[in-house]
Formats: sequence, structure tokens, C-alpha cells
Amino acid sequence: MNGSFGTAINCIDGRAQLPVIEWVKFNGSVQFVDLITEPGADGVLSRGQTGKTEQIYTRLNTSVQAHSPSLIAVCGHADCVGNPVPNEEHHRDIEEASAMVSDWFPAVRVVGLFVNDFGSVDKICDTSEGIDDLKSYL
Ligand SMILES: [Zn+2]
Repeated sequence: MNGSFGTAINCIDGRAQLPVIEWVKFNGSVQFVDLITEPGADGVLSRGQTGKTEQIYTRLNTSVQAHSPSLIAVCGHADCVGNPVPNEEHHRDIEEASAMVSDWFPAVRVVGLFVNDFGSVDKICDTSEGIDDLKSYL
């Protein structure tokens, strides 16, 4: 079974799944989204919780090797039990976690996404930002 893939590192929270999957499918122009879920994943990665970070890395590496995703989304969401911090802190956690994931897989586009209080997706950061602007001048 072939197809084009994106990969999302997300919380286990059911409210955060479909908004992220839909965002990645649409904005990444992919058919399928591999999911790596961990309670409060943005906080786990930004705080560098060793064992859990390794587990996330191992699962992410499996997805990257198997499916060559065109982008990896690093996600957090409002009202998170696993990472119970204010939204502004989620934004910082997502930025830090995205930077770490980008260090792991520098060849892959990494976007940081936040599912806000209204259930819609805010893009916090994007390693490909600026590339489109640059292209338009060439
Ligand atoms: Zn959560």
C-alpha cells in the first residue's frame, strides 16, 4: 500500500487528533498521517524527560524510515492534562520541542502546531518558513 505521509507527535487527548490530522493532510498535501501520541508530548520533549523522549524518538524514527514523511508536526493543545500549563507556555514548549525534532531530522520540514481553545490549529513555528518568500524572488 503506497501513499504520501506526514507524521504528528501529539497528546493522547482525543480533542487534539482530528484538527492536527486535517491540518497536516491539507497543508502538507499528504494522504496519511502517522501518529505518535504521548500525554503532554510538547512538555515531555521540551523538558527533555529522558526515557519518554527516547521512546518518542524511536517511534518517530520508525515512521521517518518507513514512510519518508514530507513533514513532522510537533503538537500541543489547550486544556492539556498531561502538560497543564498556560497557552503561552505551550507555545514555548512547542517551539523548543520542534527545534529538538528538527535537530534529529534536519532534512524533514518540522512544524509546531497548537490546538487552541476553539479546537482550531495555530501554527507556532515552521522550519520551511521563508522558503516560499525566497522562491518568489527567483
Ligand atoms: Zn493533552
